Amino acid sequence: MNNANEDKKIALAKQIIQNLNKAIKEHIIFDTEPSKFDQSGYLNIREGYIDKKSIKRAIIILRGLGCEWARNTQGCCSMCGHLSASSNGNPVSFDSLAEQFDRALEQCEFNNISMLCTYNGGSFLNDNEFPKAFRAYIYKRVNEKKIKRFVIESRVEYITNEKLDEIEVSLPETIVEIGVGIESSNDIVRNVLINKNTERNQYIHIGNLIKKRVQIKLLSYVFLKPPFLTEQEAINDAIDSVRFAKEIGSDIISLEAASIQEHTLLDYLAHSINYKPPWIWSVFEVINQVYDSDRIIRIGGFEFYPIPLHYTSNSCQCDEELYHRISMYNQTNNIDYIKNFTCASGCYKLWKKELENVNKEELLDRIISFKSHLEKFHS
Ligand code: SF4
Ligand SMILES: [Zn+2]
Repeated sequence: MNNANEDKKIALAKQIIQNLNKAIKEHIIFDTEPSKFDQSGYLNIREGYIDKKSIKRAIIILRGLGCEWARNTQGCCSMCGHLSASSNGNPVSFDSLAEQFDRALEQCEFNNISMLCTYNGGSFLNDNEFPKAFRAYIYKRVNEKKIKRFVIESRVEYITNEKLDEIEVSLPETIVEIGVGIESSNDIVRNVLINKNTERNQYIHIGNLIKKRVQIKLLSYVFLKPPFLTEQEAINDAIDSVRFAKEIGSDIISLEAASIQEHTLLDYLAHSINYKPPWIWSVFEVINQVYDSDRIIRIGGFEFYPIPLHYTSNSCQCDEELYHRISMYNQTNNIDYIKNFTCASGCYKLWKKELENVNKEELLDRIISFKSHLEKFHS
């Protein structure tokens, strides 16, 4: 196919995905009552691993204005349902945000917790989501609590030298991880299937910026099982993407196994064409292929707000044992937890069988031929 035709197809497929996302977002009923924004959406204490030690980490998800890309008419990533917990752009006062954060902090015992993850269902470094004054407030509280490791998330376009300076000056005693959604190293997968609206060069640029910083680490998220891919294609895509994340200098990589949140394209596809999150065996397969004892590769995809409806699963009685093994792997970085397990119920064979499924249709054509579902959605 010549380039002009390919470009036309990309534009058409993108339009279909964006129209679907837009239609799905119209079904969200936002609760924008100001008093609801005095309480964070999610607080949890889980295990983690840093400096070759198991540690405890607190995860706080604050409710704010919502991701600016998700609020854009073209926007929202296909797997992301965070917008429905936000105010959808309605102002949330500094006092409300501070109250959310302080209430959550009060519930954490920082003698035992060395890592604090503070998420906002969007970009911590975007002034239109978190004003500079509020970021300064958070930094102050992190210093007061003597938190050793602080984790935030941001889209790449908001990570600038100025923002990195702000972090280093404000948090001189803390290591800060900035989580960035690479999702996929493949442009079609990332920008059409996932609708991320980012370029590979932006990730390379951010890798170079962060490499020069001593206290700031790059945490890259790689997504496992974008829509419209077979299980085997999704595994291959995630393996390539983790390799790309390594190439750009990521200090930590998190393999994000797809989960299904309400009001997302994935949720819609789960109902319309039986999209399913990846098998846990697929998660293990990717980790087995990319494991690197010198670099932390976490398994994520569990800590979101609103709480997902479905997670990675073998749809088998072994799920609970395997979730436990994921947790143990995440707190030890010991690959034995995910290597040495066989399920007596035969789900492994079923997974192998699923890997044989081949879709010969070209990727963009899969989306274009799916268009009829859009009309169905509106009818
Ligand atoms: S995944 Fe991140 S960038 Fe994409 S819509 Fe959600 S919060 Fe925004
Ligand atoms: Zn099983």
